[in-house]
Amino acid sequence: MSSDTHSLDALVLALRRLPGVGVKSASRMAYHLLQNDREGAQLLAHALLDASASMRHCERCHTFTQQPVCATCLDPARDATRLCVVESPADQAALERTGAYKGLYFVLLGRISPLDGIGPHEIGIDLLFQRACDGVVQEVILATNFTAEGEATAHVVGEGLRSRGLRVTRLARGVPVGSELEYVDLGTIAHALADRR
Ligand SMILES: [Zn+2]
Repeated sequence: MSSDTHSLDALVLALRRLPGVGVKSASRMAYHLLQNDREGAQLLAHALLDASASMRHCERCHTFTQQPVCATCLDPARDATRLCVVESPADQAALERTGAYKGLYFVLLGRISPLDGIGPHEIGIDLLFQRACDGVVQEVILATNFTAEGEATAHVVGEGLRSRGLRVTRLARGVPVGSELEYVDLGTIAHALADRR
């Protein structure tokens, strides 16, 4: 790292923190911003600072929000007897885009992955059990991804909820094995939701 390009090197390093971005792509982005789009670089910097400072997790469902409780949880038109469990705010957004679900959500803090030392406690399973046992929720729909970790998560979460007397359903198998909801088309997700069992 030479001293007269220190800022450029730091920018490339920072961009590499994004998922799927290697050193080549990071360099391409950095050169593009500095050479062709200084205004875009300023916009990006400002948006990053603003979002990372102001976005927090909803106290009830843990999705992203700028308020203590998110708009979905506060919406009186949503069916509070249904709670859909997803792995991430991005998966929740994918389900919302289908327009096929009118219940509430609970966003886990990831997925169970024993190899990475992530167990039930790490994904906030106790918070989910508390939330699901509020006396209003009647059905919990497990919409974790159809990956090995997502299935393991659905299994553990499902067992825990059933033992607490809740009705538990899983998205139907229309969603391809190994896939993440975020990347599945809307029709398929809507179908899987309608066919849950
Ligand atoms: Zn919420």
